[in-house]
Amino acid sequence: MSAYTDRIFETVVAKNPAEPEFHQAVKEVLESLAPVLEKNPQYEAAKILERITEPERVIMFRVPWFNDKGEVEVNRGFRIEFNSAIGPYKGGLRFHPTVYLGILKFLAFEQVLKNSLTTLPMGGGKGGSDFDPKGKSDNEVMRFCQSFMTELQRHIGPDTDVPAGDIGVGGREIGYMFGQYKRIRNEFTGILTGKGLGWGGSLIRPEATGYGSVYFAEEMLKTRGETFEGKTCVVSGSGNVAQYTVQKLTQLGGKCVTLSDSSGTIYDPDGIDAEKLAFVMDLKNVKRGRIKEYADKFGCEYREGEKPWSVACECAFPSATQNEIGLEDAKTLLANGCYVISEGANMPCVPEAVDLFVEKRILYGPGKAANAGGVATSGLEMSQNSMRLAWSSEEVDAKLNAIMVAVHEQCVKAAEMCGDPGNYVVGANVAGFVKVADAMLDQGLV
Ligand code: NDP
Repeated sequence: MSAYTDRIFETVVAKNPAEPEFHQAVKEVLESLAPVLEKNPQYEAAKILERITEPERVIMFRVPWFNDKGEVEVNRGFRIEFNSAIGPYKGGLRFHPTVYLGILKFLAFEQVLKNSLTTLPMGGGKGGSDFDPKGKSDNEVMRFCQSFMTELQRHIGPDTDVPAGDIGVGGREIGYMFGQYKRIRNEFTGILTGKGLGWGGSLIRPEATGYGSVYFAEEMLKTRGETFEGKTCVVSGSGNVAQYTVQKLTQLGGKCVTLSDSSGTIYDPDGIDAEKLAFVMDLKNVKRGRIKEYADKFGCEYREGEKPWSVACECAFPSATQNEIGLEDAKTLLANGCYVISEGANMPCVPEAVDLFVEKRILYGPGKAANAGGVATSGLEMSQNSMRLAWSSEEVDAKLNAIMVAVHEQCVKAAEMCGDPGNYVVGANVAGFVKVADAMLDQGLV
């Protein structure tokens, strides 16, 4: 860190007290930027760091709704519109009891740089609620989503801010929110992505984050002349990102042996093949059950309360949540032979784990690069909505793959430019930052 970045970090901590995840995300970026700031004094002169760490707008609102017993419940809703220098705000909505300002600011800040890396014209935002969809009936989820959108609708629009899904927000929730928006505004426009295929959604959007994370890892492996063929892979989570990570890895010759949820991990040494994955998709997306039922069904091991990181593997795909790989987990992964990590989740590794992976020069793809395929395909959904047409799955998948190749290439080039070849953390942060910073300079004092 330089004197300038130290000062910025202290200000961020002072102005955003008790938001450790936001501090963590900002610090990691600031640590990467020293060479760029040194070569480009115009950024400091224009106070780009002061501005880029301050959201353009923070919206926080009450979400009252009726539960099935007819009682009133009250949750808190948020939308962080962080940066619109290169396009409309874009980023998911998270429904999870741990949601608060600090989590959403970290996610929105990461999103700004991630969206910049996709090569598409999208600014960064994030939102959500401390509402917990787990254990709620479909009607309760619908009433909550309708109330949430009743307020959110006045802040978003196809050229202003286009939310998508994240933890706890999948096709069902997007549908209820889209319906409510349409009803209030009397407009059928692409104000959300991740929509159903029959009403404006894009083929491959559900698959995109998981597929993209695998494509990014494939590019990293290519730098060593390797493929997934015969490699053992561990995956955490069992939601949207985890499911399609397993699907693509299996198609490319890898063997996935774990999945998890917040209750525990299943370990299936025979590999999670297409048929077993179909069971997981039905279990998680339709029945909304627990991953333990996989172990009951297929007779494999279930590790209550454990994460997958003690299972020996060459490749790891953290695809559940932030800070799910601690320093001890990182040491265990390395000791057991893991040398490829592609972050499907946002910020799943604690800073000490990231430092260790970078120091050991393994192929470590940070989330803002590795999981950019989701938002990139949301960008493709926006394009299709604007043109009022739909591309085939082959077309979208080819575009997604090309974008992930481009994201990888930008990271490689930026890392080399900074004199730190192979460091994807520096590469992603610098490449993402420069485009946004230059746009902010061009647009004057915004
Ligand atoms: P889902 O809600 O579909 O699945 C989340 C999975 O992670 C579930 O298995 C859940 O288990 C588990 N999980 C959530 N919180 C915790 C926790 N605190 N501890 C342990 N396990 C947990 O979400 P997604 O798959 O969409 O998102 C997963 C990650 O990927 C997130 O970090 C998200 O920000 C990131 N991401 C998602 C994108 C997308 O397009 N969906 C795009 C880019 C990044 P349980 O059911 O028990 O809660």
